[in-house]
Amino acid sequence: MKNITVIGSGTMGNGIAHVFAQNGYTVSLVDISKEALDRALATIAKNLDRQVSKGSLTEDDKKKTLANITVFTELGAGVAQADLVVEAATENVDLKLKIFRDIDQHAPANAILASNTSSISITRIAAATKRPGQVIGMHFMNPVPVMKLVEVIRGYSTTDAVTAAVMDTSRKLGKVPVEVNDYPGFVANKILMPMINEAIITLYEGTAGVEEIDTVMKLGMAHPMGPLHLADFIGLDVCLSIMNVLFEGFGNPKYAPCPLLVNMVAAGHLGAKSGQGFYDYSGGGKELVVAARFRKKEFA
Ligand code: NAD
Repeated sequence: MKNITVIGSGTMGNGIAHVFAQNGYTVSLVDISKEALDRALATIAKNLDRQVSKGSLTEDDKKKTLANITVFTELGAGVAQADLVVEAATENVDLKLKIFRDIDQHAPANAILASNTSSISITRIAAATKRPGQVIGMHFMNPVPVMKLVEVIRGYSTTDAVTAAVMDTSRKLGKVPVEVNDYPGFVANKILMPMINEAIITLYEGTAGVEEIDTVMKLGMAHPMGPLHLADFIGLDVCLSIMNVLFEGFGNPKYAPCPLLVNMVAAGHLGAKSGQGFYDYSGGGKELVVAARFRKKEFA
């Protein structure tokens, strides 16, 4: 593996491009939006500067990392030399199926095609290509340069050789890969999202308030962030969509999304990105302030 193509240069794509480039890979970063590519390069440069100021990277390595990245707005040109493609475009099934059909058409025949999807079936994505054995999940965590885990997801047809190559490449990035099978939510979200949903149910049922629930989980379970704060950080729309994937995928009522979560998403209260979730971010988010809606007595 030498040439890596990353499709999508948003939150995850820029982090994935960053770690590959820093570890000496040649990276082609593809996005339909030129502005997104410009923003990604600026974010990568800023994050590398932070590493330099902390003393974990030299100025020379920063320059080499940036020089390893080339940007493309044309997918065909971006994947033409790829040994490994990591797709990190918007989480939408139809979009991903189309992107994988396009990649399959333009990438070299032996290239491995990975998706960073949080919740879409790798087997379904693989079936859109003529090389399902070479399609795999490579689920990085946010923020990618910091988080050690890569959940490596074997689709129904993914070969042993492709899995071994992706595990090995993940280790070369300084990450810890964990191999899992392709079932709804994989492992990370199958465990995390029902926990977040249960925290919302606990609030909805009036067992405790926002701060109380988050404090119990932070101080009692040593979680760095309470589940409601984490839900705001992930985005409540993303949490709801993953709960729906679990609910539909397993057909089990234990995965039914909490009606409060459904209401909040319908009302546009999506967490930090919309300014309101369980907490209020209108003041810039430096200090955690419980949203006015949840300061009422029945939620405490
Ligand atoms: P994002 O919205 O920040 O970025 C998505 C990017 O994809 C945008 O820049 C958009 O312009 C681009 N894009 C859309 N259509 C495209 C196309 N046809 N070709 C190329 N680029 C295209 O999204 P994100 O948060 O970076 O998520 C990307 C993927 O990573 C999703 O599948 C998501 O489920 C997964 N993921 C996200 C997180 C997270 O915490 N954000 C964590 C793990 C996995």
